[in-house]
Amino acid sequence: MKHNFGAGPGILPHEVLKQAAAAVVDFNGIGLSLLEISHRSSEFEAVLDEAVKLVKELLEVPEGYSVLFLQGGASTQFAMVPYNLLPSTGKAAYVESGVWANKALKEAKFFGEVDVIASSKESNFTYIPKDYTVPADAAYLHLTSNNTIYGTQLHEFPASPIPVVCDMSSDIFSRKINVADFGIIYAGAQKNMGPAGTTLVIVKDEILGKVDRKIPAMLNYQVQIEGGSMYNTPPVFAIYVSMLTLNWLKAKGGVEAIAKENKAKSKALYEEIDRNPLFKAVCAVEDRSDMNVCFVMENPELEKPFLKLCDEKGIVGIKGHRSVGGFRASIYNALPITSVHVLIDAMQEFQEKNK
Ligand SMILES: *Cc1c(COP(=O)(O)O)cnc(C)c1O
Repeated sequence: MKHNFGAGPGILPHEVLKQAAAAVVDFNGIGLSLLEISHRSSEFEAVLDEAVKLVKELLEVPEGYSVLFLQGGASTQFAMVPYNLLPSTGKAAYVESGVWANKALKEAKFFGEVDVIASSKESNFTYIPKDYTVPADAAYLHLTSNNTIYGTQLHEFPASPIPVVCDMSSDIFSRKINVADFGIIYAGAQKNMGPAGTTLVIVKDEILGKVDRKIPAMLNYQVQIEGGSMYNTPPVFAIYVSMLTLNWLKAKGGVEAIAKENKAKSKALYEEIDRNPLFKAVCAVEDRSDMNVCFVMENPELEKPFLKLCDEKGIVGIKGHRSVGGFRASIYNALPITSVHVLIDAMQEFQEKNK
């Protein structure tokens, strides 16, 4: 077995993969594959209902919110959010904390005015901008809770007089959040919830219906809510595996229990990075992510040999994003702390070898 530190699609619990594999051949003993039954069958409806129920339970979603499983990834939400929320004569506020935030705000410009109220672009996104005032006359504030590429995370959400829309693709279900503080939460499944192919959207019903443009059905939250995520054929496999993963999380004690484990993993790894003279972290200490731990080498020439050592130890997926370089260890929910210790041991062994 490999130690999978890949950033996305990321690691899934092994038992979930085994259940998913079995369901592809024979779903719940009905003699048919999950992939060849109607999405309107009682069997699949039970899967979707269970997935929605688990989201509500694990995140304590209050009344007045709808839970959707859509397609098109988080990137489709970049456009769908302004399509539904940004009046053509209005404006939206964006915090530019990374490339995903930048892509989101570029899409919003197709629909109305975009006010980039803060950005850390000048420092290649090594910190999360916090010094800004949220304009009360904007339609919504858009945030990215975890910047997957740079390894920064919003540890405290700002107070906002307007609905907050948050891209939580890479830290959804990793820690407790207060859903009532948000207008929309969205997340591509493939980082911390399931396989690629579905996007979780949690939307506060009352923020919809305030723009008067025509919206194509597939991109219209109201239509998707009325269709119960089944306006068209939903991504059955991705929803099923997400449901299994959420069930796994529930059995582990839910979001609070996993948050403790995630903290223990990130703490151990950052401690080694700070201690080991060969490595250093580049992001602002207070913004360090508990999901994506980014670090570089004091001597970049040692990066290749370190990657080779990692490869020998079965450590995969730790090469940093091409725009940042160095290393990125993604330590999503399903990554056991034992894998983190294998990485730490490799770092220590490498230090010994390079004295
Ligand atoms: C991966 C990622 C995305 C892109 O997700 P897709 O599902 O590939 O569109 C967007 N935002 C964040 C924070 C991500 O980590």
